[in-house]
Amino acid sequence: NPGHSLLSSSSPLSQAARVFSSASTPIRATLFPGDGIGPEIAESVKQVFREADVPIEWEEHYVGTEIDPRTQSFLTWESLESVRKNGVGLKGPMATPIGKGHRSLNLTLRKELNLYANVRPCYSLPGYKTRYDNVDLITIRENTEGEYSGLEHQVVRGVVESLKIITRQASLRVAEYAFHYAKSHGRERVSAIHKANIMQKTDGLFLKCCREVAEKYPEIKYEEVVIDNCCMMLVKNPALFDVLVMPNLYGDIISDLCAGLIGGLGLTPSCNIGEGGIALAEAVHGSAPDIAGKNLANPTALLLSAVTMLRHLELHDKADRIQNAILGTISEGKFRTADLGGSSSTSDFTQAIIDHL
Ligand code: NAD
Repeated sequence: NPGHSLLSSSSPLSQAARVFSSASTPIRATLFPGDGIGPEIAESVKQVFREADVPIEWEEHYVGTEIDPRTQSFLTWESLESVRKNGVGLKGPMATPIGKGHRSLNLTLRKELNLYANVRPCYSLPGYKTRYDNVDLITIRENTEGEYSGLEHQVVRGVVESLKIITRQASLRVAEYAFHYAKSHGRERVSAIHKANIMQKTDGLFLKCCREVAEKYPEIKYEEVVIDNCCMMLVKNPALFDVLVMPNLYGDIISDLCAGLIGGLGLTPSCNIGEGGIALAEAVHGSAPDIAGKNLANPTALLLSAVTMLRHLELHDKADRIQNAILGTISEGKFRTADLGGSSSTSDFTQAIIDHL
């Protein structure tokens, strides 16, 4: 079942959403259209939501043109406050200028909002043929530390150092999320992905924490798989896995591999889960500068991310309606974007989804 709700229904935000939707007051959600293809695919989401009568009022925020000293990045403080206030949002891809001496936009969001788990569901789309038709994986990536702690410096000329940080607190938190997710979604197994044979202290601590949490969930099978072997197994037989939990960098890489198993980056959604029940949904892909502004991008990944946001808000009727329209359009095959072998523009494909609502 691709209908993934990302938090437990007893979360304060879900309860608030129920009150809001029963009173048919629109729910405010933050929207970052983002860079590159971001504005084009964000427009698709807005159109589809409008046509499906989704009771969401978007609060749009753009990346700033100057570094905001309060965030040390081009992301404004006001935009972070908007997500904190609304508790829920959708984010388009944000391009990271390389080596410009400021914090990456994505890193800023994850750190400032404490978005500790990045959940990436990946499943075979009915009617869209790839090598496998039985992919159904959930990648859960630790999102705040590891190699992405942003701690890099030059030691002496010609030698640089990058610090990989693993803490007990962040590892327990993401492991707990993974096991709770598995239990509440009827999943059977959690695999911890690591390289503890080499990274003995850092990945060793991550594994120790996963083992500790696994003991609290005897009904869920637990295993540990070395990352290189995991890549080989995923490519040979993805049905060997169910829920995968792993440190930050591994999650970034493995989830793109998983996207490749079902047809590419244009299809895979994700949602960032933060402390206090914040949910910021985003596609796995980046800003795709090679096709930006050409009306060629596939909006599916961002649309399915927006669907995870609706499920988080317990707006399951709307989520089902939109998800079925997307999957129905792809399965029918008349309208597909170029990444899926078709010749439809972003706007024609979006219209086809609306016609399937
Ligand atoms: P990318 O994901 O933007 O593109 C990789 C390839 O996939 C390209 O050929 C692109 O055309 C294609 N692609 C991606 N999304 C697509 C879609 N929706 N429809 C059709 N084709 C699609 O990766 P990249 O080129 O390595 O990164 C570009 C920029 O995006 C960089 O600045 C990077 O830092 C940033 N980035 C941001 C995020 C994020 O905001 N979460 C994630 C990854 C990369």
